Amino acid sequence: MNNNNYRASFYTLGCRLNQAETSLICNTFKEKGYAIVNFGAATDVCVINTCTVTEQADAKCRQLVRQVLKKSPDAFVAVVGCYSQMGAEALRRINGIDLILGTEDKMRVAEFIDVPHKLPQALVHNGRISREAFTISSVGNYENATRANLKVQDGCDFMCTFCVIPFARGRSRSRAFWDIQREALALVERGHKELVLSGVNIGTYEFEGKRLLDVIKMLESIDGLERIRISSIEPTTIPEALVNHMAESEKLCNHFHIPLQHGDDAVLKNMRRFYSINEYVDFLEYVQKRVPDVCLGTDVMVGFPGEDEQAFENTRRLLDALPFAYFHVFSFSERGGTPAVRMADKVEHKIKKLRSETLRVLSSEKKQRFFTAQLGKRMRVLMEERNASGLYQGFTDNYVRVAVESESDLDNCLLDVTLLGMAEKHVVSGRIYNRQPAEYMRDSVTVSV
Ligand code: SF4
Repeated sequence: MNNNNYRASFYTLGCRLNQAETSLICNTFKEKGYAIVNFGAATDVCVINTCTVTEQADAKCRQLVRQVLKKSPDAFVAVVGCYSQMGAEALRRINGIDLILGTEDKMRVAEFIDVPHKLPQALVHNGRISREAFTISSVGNYENATRANLKVQDGCDFMCTFCVIPFARGRSRSRAFWDIQREALALVERGHKELVLSGVNIGTYEFEGKRLLDVIKMLESIDGLERIRISSIEPTTIPEALVNHMAESEKLCNHFHIPLQHGDDAVLKNMRRFYSINEYVDFLEYVQKRVPDVCLGTDVMVGFPGEDEQAFENTRRLLDALPFAYFHVFSFSERGGTPAVRMADKVEHKIKKLRSETLRVLSSEKKQRFFTAQLGKRMRVLMEERNASGLYQGFTDNYVRVAVESESDLDNCLLDVTLLGMAEKHVVSGRIYNRQPAEYMRDSVTVSV
């Protein structure tokens, strides 16, 4: 059925993988003839792709759903994803939701809606999650973005004691190699020059003997694809061969986001992480030696049960000492069904807040230091958009945000840029070096500092 009189809008909460999935879901609605409208505009269907990583994420989902129901009481409202999987009972209590789909069925949400008429009560599917390899058979819709996400994997078998993801998203499973290639080709055909590989635990990718490095090599062979970026990868899943490949590859970005989670061995052990601080530090040293310009990012958690002043201080010092360009800071949040809920020595909310703020400030300083260390170099920048100051900005392959002056439209242009100074906090000003193709010859390239 072609529903081409209907409109659909989408909202994503949570991680990059959720963003990738919303784009794929969005495309399935387009294929059914829906007009895609901005979230907040009048619509016939609203799909909310949810997150359950913390209590706050759950609360935000419920709040957003209530806002949508108030603003668009006649729209068919589908709530899908991680919170639908784990919190279906709480969602069911909100009057007006039409469809609640957990992890197994969320990608097929368009198939559940024949005609988008309100239902007397919510239809709920949040049962067992498959462990099998999967295909997606859609192409992500990234009309307004330069970079496109490419989902390669889902779920996780690691069972860290604080994490609800293995329950919300199921066990680790990989996308068929050929299905990744099919979507990648289609995305490149649409003009995307950079693809960001996403998943929950992408280092565990395995499909018919192919591993993550095979996926990367396959993508590198696609003409027109200039960059491949790994989004986040667990430290114990990165083979040296992948680091060595990054050192030599023209297309694999010099960027690793490797979750550390904590800087104290006793806490790491209670988190059930499978490495010691020394092992992590040795590995990071190896990465930096092989890929000197690499941008290293990490995730870190504050307030895990048993994190005393000393354990926190160990974390702060380690983060300061290691060559990180930035870190994402999370506060421990009790998630039902995880072992950490039963652990003693809980950390008070106000202490978690203070520690979190301390690390955020440190991360900001480190990013500024990393960016400053890149000045004077000439790097390729994939231009994305004009920023609020009127400068054109984009990212280097080692994830430095660079802005240049240009009268021309530089969207999606890959340009050589000399990095000159700090334009503003966390933005480097640059001058276009090669000024190709010819239409950029007329650009004014004065530097704004
Ligand atoms: S590796 Fe990541 S997703 Fe998997 S259980 Fe640990 S924190 Fe959760």
